[in-house]
This record gives sequence, structure tokens and C-alpha cells, in this order.
Amino acid sequence: MVATLTSDESKATLSHSPMHRFPFKVSYLLDIPIASLNYQQILGYLEQQIHLRQKTFCVTLNLDILRLAYEVKGFHSVIKKADFVFADGMPIIWLSWLKTGNTVRTAPLPERIPGCDIVQDLCHLSHEKGYTIFILGAASGVAEVAKAKLEEKLPNIQVVGTYAPASEELKDLQKSKAILENINATNADILFVALGAPKQETWIANHIDQLTPFVIVPCGGSIDFIAGTQKKSPSWIGRLGFEWLYRLAHNPGRLFHRYILNDLPFLLKAGCSRKILRSDNL
Ligand code: UDP
Repeated sequence: MVATLTSDESKATLSHSPMHRFPFKVSYLLDIPIASLNYQQILGYLEQQIHLRQKTFCVTLNLDILRLAYEVKGFHSVIKKADFVFADGMPIIWLSWLKTGNTVRTAPLPERIPGCDIVQDLCHLSHEKGYTIFILGAASGVAEVAKAKLEEKLPNIQVVGTYAPASEELKDLQKSKAILENINATNADILFVALGAPKQETWIANHIDQLTPFVIVPCGGSIDFIAGTQKKSPSWIGRLGFEWLYRLAHNPGRLFHRYILNDLPFLLKAGCSRKILRSDNL
């Protein structure tokens, strides 16, 4: 299952992308181009990028990341550095329905693309096709547990390295260089970065030129879901747009501030904001 884009979709791109940069239709929020592709097309595109040995910095755009791009100085340009952004969560789909402005440049987002499912499916591809994976981040020991669980389920999976850096290491240039060398020495095709937003996207953006893996995915809590240290919501809850409520119920201490005090008011604001909904006025 390599290239899933039809020639029609490729042609459509040229009229939808202002920079003629994307080989697929995109929809914009806060001037961030989001791939208007379904789940299988996203997965097919990522596999194609590995085949073509084409470095692809992905962003799994959820409401929290959109809010951080809006509120945190410098983070918008981090996200704009990404090569491939997809809609991880129903709020992003809902906002894309409210789009105003230059609709010629936009295409409706067909469905939500859970980043943690993409991570799982890339693991399956590693098992089937031998692609190699490096896991950077998650709390100490968690990536090792995830690796062991994956190897139990997918005996041919190739997790060629894991590393859980301390916060200071990520800020220190010399130590970051050592992390990069460690990752690159494994010749990994796929890099999962589980450091939480905005740290994971910022670290990737700062080092993208030196990184050698082809598909680079900042993956939040996905490694915890695989290791079993965090509970993943059933997909039907996610499809209804209530994954955040499920996660909040399981971890209120950590997530109340994020979801209730930050993201919920931001969703209401974004729904009325021309700056966020329009794609042509930044
Ligand atoms: N994490 C980390 N170092 C940090 C901050 C976070 O390794 O400095 C890890 C954390 O242990 C977790 C992952 O990043 O495994 C995702 O964090 P979070 O749960 O905030 O992401 P979410 O999926 O909720 O966006």
C-alpha cells in the first residue's frame, strides 16, 4: 500500500495550494495547511515518504496544539516548519467546517486522524515491511516497556533504539547533539518523539536538518498507551469528539487546566475568530 493519491487528487492540489507545495488538497486553520485526506491516504502517504527517503516532519494537530500555536510566541513558526500536518481530533474538523475567506484555497477535512492510531499502524508496517523505529521520550523506562509489548504482539517489529532524555538535555546544545548522533547511528526510518506539546514539535523543528529518519512524528501520550501507563479512549468516544472528556476523567489533576481552563474557551474563541478560520489574512 504505497502511493494512495490518485492523479485527480494530485492535480487538485495545484489549484488548492498557494505554494504549489503539497501533492494533496489542504485546509487552513491559523494559516496552517492541514492535509485533507482520509486515514488510509495519510498512512499511505507516510509509507510513500519512507519509500522515497523523503524527510517528513509531521504534526498531529489537535486543539491544544492549535491553541499553543495561537498563544505561545514562536510556536506558530515551529508548526509552519512541518512538512505534513493532519487533523488529530474532532475540534479541528469542526473548525474546518466553519471556514470563511478564500474557499478556493481550502478543502473540507474528511475525518479525524488519531495520531496514536497512526503510531500503532506505523508499528504494524515495521513488522510487515521491516522499517526501523526509534522512540525518543516518554518517562524513563516507558519506551522500553512499549518496545517489549510491541515485540510480543508484532514479532518482526524493528524498534532499533529508545531514549528518555531529561529536560536539561533537550535545552543543552551539546547534549542534544549526542541525542541526534544516537538516533542517526541507528539508521531508523521512523522517529517517534514523545515529549508532550510544545516541547516535542519545537525540538524536532530545531533539529530537523540534522535528523536522518524519514518520517518524524511527535506523538504525545501514544507510547504511554502502548506501554499501558495511560488509558486510551475507545475510538467511538473519539469519533464523537469526547476523547478529552475520557482522558480528563482518568487524569483530572493533570488535564483539568489544559482542557477546561485553556482548550474549551479557546474552541469557542476560535469558532468566532476570522484570524483562525481565514487562511489568507496572516
Ligand atoms: N514527556 C517527556 N518529557 C517531558 C514532558 C513529557 O518525556 O519533558 C512525555 C510524557 O512522559 C508522556 C509524553 O511526553 O509520555 C506525552 O506527554 P503528554 O501526556 O503531555 O502528551 P499528550 O498526549 O497528553 O498531549
